[in-house]
Amino acid sequence: MRWIFLILLFSFNNLFAEEVNLFTTRHYESDIKIYKKFTEKTGIKVNVVAGKSKPLEKRILEEGKDCIGDIFFLADVGRLISAEKKNIFQKISSSIFESEVPRSFRSEYWIGIAKRARIIFYSPSKISKNELKDLNYENLSEPRWKGQIAIRQANNVYNQSLIASLIEKNGLDYMKKWLKDFVNNFSRKPQGNDRAQILSVASGESKLAIANTYYYALMLSGKKGKEQQLAAQKVKPFFPNQNNRGVHMNISGVGVLKYSPNKENAIKLIEYLLTPEVQSHIVNNTFEYPIIENAESNKLVMLMGKFKQDLDTPVSSYGKWQKEAYKLMKKSGWN
Ligand code: FE
Repeated sequence: MRWIFLILLFSFNNLFAEEVNLFTTRHYESDIKIYKKFTEKTGIKVNVVAGKSKPLEKRILEEGKDCIGDIFFLADVGRLISAEKKNIFQKISSSIFESEVPRSFRSEYWIGIAKRARIIFYSPSKISKNELKDLNYENLSEPRWKGQIAIRQANNVYNQSLIASLIEKNGLDYMKKWLKDFVNNFSRKPQGNDRAQILSVASGESKLAIANTYYYALMLSGKKGKEQQLAAQKVKPFFPNQNNRGVHMNISGVGVLKYSPNKENAIKLIEYLLTPEVQSHIVNNTFEYPIIENAESNKLVMLMGKFKQDLDTPVSSYGKWQKEAYKLMKKSGWN
């Protein structure tokens, strides 16, 4: 009798001998399906610890070598870089990362899983598309936009990444002057999330809004209620810098934790997240763009149209200017 028990115990243990622990700021019920499929294919069980970025990061730092986490999944490269600077990640490499993910969306410490653009939104009833012709981010400081731009607060990481990319392209001196003029063009004291900026354009309070692409599609989907859906329908996306470097891009991505107990499994799971089927699933929920070439985005995202992305400015360069960007933004009166 006893040996049967031992055999059972052994096989049960063996069943889940392989595992990977995913610390993530993504929380979609439907992601569970992805992980189940991964387990069926590889025998590696995926344990998910979901939470907000700050508390998860704090836990990882406090637990140090004892932390069970293998992968840390974060939105916005600003957060990935800030984690990298705290020495949370280890270097990773895989031929699949190199073949599937453009160089500008990865570093040796983290890799993009999905991408988003931070663009301009306008109301066609208030502005003709002609007025926006050839518009660059750089033009948003011009006096013709005085009192017309809605954007959220300076402490927001998406804004810091955008300004950091503009510093990388135009230099600090240019951006010091630019920021003062840009802040002068705000339609109101910055407040609310990205969706609130789009709502401000829909209501006619602002002529232009700056927001990430996926918030617009999320509003259009009706998942945020009828009111926001109707508001988004009054607003159109505009992709700036189309005659030069392209649109400011950002990523959601993952890094492997420094003390990852299951590093090999972690790499396997990340490679799995980069397969077309899983990519489509991931971006279908978040309304982001897939990071690989041959995966589909959500229909509402596709309807926003094709555009030129800035692939010349690596997202890792935002980290270089993140602190300086925030300082300059505050100094220019951006609350
Ligand atoms: Fe967001």
